[in-house]
Amino acid sequence: MRYLSTRGESATRGFSDILLEGLAPDGGLYLPESYPLIDSATLAQWRGLSYADLAFEILSRFITDIPADDLRALIAKTYTPEVFGGHAEIVPLKPLKGDPGMALLGLSEGPTLAFKDMAMQLLGNLFEYALARQHSELNIFGATSGDTGSAAEYAMRGKRGIRVFMLSPFGKMSAFQTAQMYSLADANIHNIAVQGVFDDAQDMVKAVSNDLDFKRRWRIGTVNSINWARLAAQIVYYFAGYFQATRSNDEQVSFTVPSGNFGNICAGHVARMMGLPIRKLVLATNENNVLDEFFRTGVYRPRKSAETHHTSSPSMDISKASNFERFIFDLLGRDASRVHALFADELPSRGFFDLSADPAFARSATDYGFTSGSSTHADRLATIRSVWQGSERLIDTHTADGVKVAREHLEPGVPMLVLETALAAKFPETIQEAVGTCPQRPAGLEDLERRPQRFAVMPVEVEAVKTYIAMHCGAGLAGS
Ligand SMILES: *Cc1c(COP(=O)(O)O)cnc(C)c1O
Repeated sequence: MRYLSTRGESATRGFSDILLEGLAPDGGLYLPESYPLIDSATLAQWRGLSYADLAFEILSRFITDIPADDLRALIAKTYTPEVFGGHAEIVPLKPLKGDPGMALLGLSEGPTLAFKDMAMQLLGNLFEYALARQHSELNIFGATSGDTGSAAEYAMRGKRGIRVFMLSPFGKMSAFQTAQMYSLADANIHNIAVQGVFDDAQDMVKAVSNDLDFKRRWRIGTVNSINWARLAAQIVYYFAGYFQATRSNDEQVSFTVPSGNFGNICAGHVARMMGLPIRKLVLATNENNVLDEFFRTGVYRPRKSAETHHTSSPSMDISKASNFERFIFDLLGRDASRVHALFADELPSRGFFDLSADPAFARSATDYGFTSGSSTHADRLATIRSVWQGSERLIDTHTADGVKVAREHLEPGVPMLVLETALAAKFPETIQEAVGTCPQRPAGLEDLERRPQRFAVMPVEVEAVKTYIAMHCGAGLAGS
């Protein structure tokens, strides 16, 4: 399988070539040259496979430059019940008895209690393998407002050849999120608390990334949501959820996906393109409704930082959706020159693009199954309360946005799976506000906030972070 760029670079690169990369050199995003089609006989054979075996069947169609036995072993050591909350299914189905026809797909049983673990855990093992083959090492550098950074750290801790330098806004994360990251004692994990807000930290990462000499010299890489390997790993749970919710492959299922950067639901789009019988892909946003606006009107209008709301589902607080270009590429019949014109010319100059008059826009619903809705803080509280009362389950704030929108798109006879993108235990403040009780922690995390914390505090200065990275690159690699 070869990969091309949404802006025109032709398909010359393999999976391993793009594994450690972000954007393609022409500024586009990588996609496979075509989607592997799964016929009904194959789909029937996959029903009943373990999660790891299913993941191998799917991922081996996208990853053809790693020997099959090696890939199978990497996947088998990633998706174990020990890492995912003791669940044999890895992604357990959780029916909502108060909402007949609806169930949660539990994607948050991994170490950081959010769905980002599903892909990041595999990425850690793939990186370690690829770096060992190249006799190379990598310094992962990023900024986090919470979920991504901790998922990356838990995936990379103790991995040979990898260090993590993660910027986070000092004093701005929840006590749980802070403790989750800062209590890691692994020598290859470096938490840097920046005396500013998340956007300051993000700007520091951009400034360092623009310094190509520095990047090359210290082998700096990222693990952001546009990474194709992350997206590929996420395709698997759409299949796993489908098999759990149906008895035969004649049935259709709809999915509702709490969305921000369009990574999670883009994996659902790929699963559907591969032939998985998905009826609808329902995109749910919070008050930051850039994507809901597009699917309602055909206008894509990224927001300015000042227009981005800070909400109680913070992992969906985005101003633009960094994976969206992948879907637009498919929607426009893979016309790379149009994608280039929209994203490289029209968006920067006008601040939006408008496909409402283009026949392609109508196809997002008819041919691609997309529909959408949005949710507010009041909706979130009401939904958490009603699911607690009707189904005796505590759901997290992001999942609540999903359930709220899913209820508006239920169809008789079509199971609706809402992706559970985090556990309630991660956002106790809002749960308390909604139902007056605190969610239970998974076993082993009771003392999290009392563990010793280790982090460096730093001003918002690019030179300071560069010096820190250079100083810490000589030591601290696991296994060396
Ligand atoms: C990252 C995240 C999302 C949004 O996922 P995207 O792939 O960015 O659309 C939703 N919920 C939670 C809890 C997350 O961490």
